[in-house]
Amino acid sequence: HGDFSQKIDYVFKVVLIGDSAVGKSQLLARFSRNEFSLDSKATIGVEFQTRTLNIDNKTIKAQIWDTAGQERYRAVTSAYYRGAVGAMLVYDMTKRQSFDHVTRWLEELRGHADKNIIVMLIGNKLDLGTLRAVPAEDAKEFAERENLFFMETSALEATNVETAFLTVLTEIYRIIS
Ligand code: GDP
Ligand code: MG
Repeated sequence: HGDFSQKIDYVFKVVLIGDSAVGKSQLLARFSRNEFSLDSKATIGVEFQTRTLNIDNKTIKAQIWDTAGQERYRAVTSAYYRGAVGAMLVYDMTKRQSFDHVTRWLEELRGHADKNIIVMLIGNKLDLGTLRAVPAEDAKEFAERENLFFMETSALEATNVETAFLTVLTEIYRIIS
């Protein structure tokens, strides 16, 4: 019952980026509401979702921003990146092109966001692993080279979604505290 008067110690803005249809909105639905939908239009137009959680006895409000269908190259505006302390850069492990575009997204991010931003590279749709088009090794190597965290997830089966977001939020907290 303490929630009503709960004091927020920190608000962390985290942005979701990556090609259209890689699963950004469903990763957010899974993390913020523990929901999943096969209908990709279900969450269009939603600007951000929040989830409040505890890290190291502090109350953190995670404010996770979703690109409401603005994934065309350079269509995401600088307002979207403003104030972001974390980013989830998502590709679909069954779509090679979405991984090839990760370099572009990273360039965009580095051009707009704070240079200390924590970035997690996410290979989503692990449940479709039999259709894999991106070896985990390739992504891992790229992430190491670019100083990103890396994880493979399934928004559908809820694999690693919690861990991916918590890793980013904990790392942000570690830096600012
Ligand atoms: P966005 O455009 O990046 O926001 O992608 P969406 O979240 O709208 O997802 C695009 C499509 O992929 C939808 O049909 C989702 O249901 C589906 N999808 C998202 N995540 C997963 C996943 O982990 N596994 C599978 N099999 N499908 C997924
Ligand atoms: Mg979306």
